Amino acid sequence: MNLILLFNEDFIEPNGRVRLTGRRFKHVQEVLRVSVNDELCVGLLNGNIGMGRVTVLDDSVLEMDVRLEQAPPLPLPVTLILALPRPKVLRRVLRSAAALGVKRIMLLNCFRVEKSFWQSPFLEQEAINEQLALGLEQARDTVLPAVTLCRQFKPFVEDRLPGVIQNTIPLVAHPTAEAPCPRSLDKAATLIIGPEGGFIPYEIEKLRAYGCTLVSLGERILNVETAVPALLSRLF
Ligand code: SAH
Repeated sequence: MNLILLFNEDFIEPNGRVRLTGRRFKHVQEVLRVSVNDELCVGLLNGNIGMGRVTVLDDSVLEMDVRLEQAPPLPLPVTLILALPRPKVLRRVLRSAAALGVKRIMLLNCFRVEKSFWQSPFLEQEAINEQLALGLEQARDTVLPAVTLCRQFKPFVEDRLPGVIQNTIPLVAHPTAEAPCPRSLDKAATLIIGPEGGFIPYEIEKLRAYGCTLVSLGERILNVETAVPALLSRLF
């Protein structure tokens, strides 16, 4: 945790006094091992980042005075559309996408997504936000990404995708594509990632028909967790 994410409810005085309990308190106490007067990097959810000076510390509570004067890092100009991965993989991908600066994530159903994945408790908003917050804390960011669930492939592509890809470069990451994935874009992108088993030909054709370009990182087939950061760092 390189930044402690603060919520409005943490403020006990409007002038910037904050009280931490629970997970964040435990982390600060056990991992960062702070003492009174130490300074910690903090940030307000969807707001500025800054420093907090510890004023009170006992067995269950930490209080600090915070100043939030710096803007959070710039976001990546990308919408990430991800065929819904296995719950465990989803959690890790959400964390790393949030850490890398993705602010819009759409989880998409397609033929090779197992139906049971949609029943996972990890898809509840609170569980999603927990993973995103971990990614933000890792990367010293505060702006929570928006995550949308798109449970039907065809209506999504036909009705929503055209609006999403407007004014962006729409790319489908596909290992066997002939075109190499572009590098260092100077424009926003929409990046579509397939499921573990890959997109089926119908889905690939549908995405192409709606304007997407297939791109590859080369002949090595990467798992989704590796493909997402590899693609994002190549694109931006
Ligand atoms: N057997 C599947 C592999 C899917 S890997 C297939 O052949 O399509 C899961 C997803 O990760 C892929 O759908 C793609 O979006 C992305 N990915 C993995 N390796 C990639 C590569 N070398 N280039 C581009 N995308 C890749």
